[in-house]
Amino acid sequence: MAPLLETRALRSAYGRIEVLHGIDLHVTEGEIVALVGANGAGKTTLMRCLSGVQPVTGGEVVFRGQSLSRVPGHRRAGLGLSQSPEGRQIFGELSVDDNLRLGAWSTDRRRMSQGMEEAFALFPMLREKRALPAGSLSGGQQQMLAIARALMAEPVCLLLDEPTMGLAPALIDEIFDVITRLRDRGMTVLLVEQNAFGALSIADRAYVLESGHVTLAGPAADLIQDDRMRAAYLGL
Ligand code: ATP
Repeated sequence: MAPLLETRALRSAYGRIEVLHGIDLHVTEGEIVALVGANGAGKTTLMRCLSGVQPVTGGEVVFRGQSLSRVPGHRRAGLGLSQSPEGRQIFGELSVDDNLRLGAWSTDRRRMSQGMEEAFALFPMLREKRALPAGSLSGGQQQMLAIARALMAEPVCLLLDEPTMGLAPALIDEIFDVITRLRDRGMTVLLVEQNAFGALSIADRAYVLESGHVTLAGPAADLIQDDRMRAAYLGL
């Protein structure tokens, strides 16, 4: 099957300092692909290249067979590529409902309310809190809202940057469980995680990024068994 999302020899830099040195990766429809690596490896920069907010200095991003080189970030959600960014970026003063509405790509009222019903089915807690300011939610609840908001754009592929960052273990499990349920319903997910063990536990395949290079890649079940992976990232 042709990949849904691909990077080909992707390079990116901050000023003169190149931080991604030619990344080749792909995500096939219906997969969870994890991208793991230490702080500063370039994971967030790569996600930002995919969503179009970070300039690409070489290579390209290809989505559904189309090069995104000339597609600005604000048009990518409309093509089906939706990101829940690191740090959530929830609008704290707005209600949960309004945050969800802001995520919707379509302004069609029927699709909007259908999207909200799906979000509430996935995260029942959001329905209970729908009228409250998003800033009053706990960290984990805000993370769920951020994912739900990304889903409101009706994506074909969801980009999640560190969705479990800073959360208590029970909530981490809940987030991973939701991501698995989304995949089981046909969603394609690229998941950036520092929690390598958790990410590999739910992913189909994974890539390890080190200093802007892919150093390991393969089925997640194989990487969990890999000695280098276990020593460097899994603390085993
Ligand atoms: P983290 O998990 O800490 O976010 P990461 O793997 O996502 O790490 P990036 O944030 O993509 O890594 O950073 C990759 C490299 O780019 C690092 O060396 C970092 O210091 C550098 N970098 C990131 N943002 C900037 C910036 N705005 N200006 C200059 N250098 C940056």
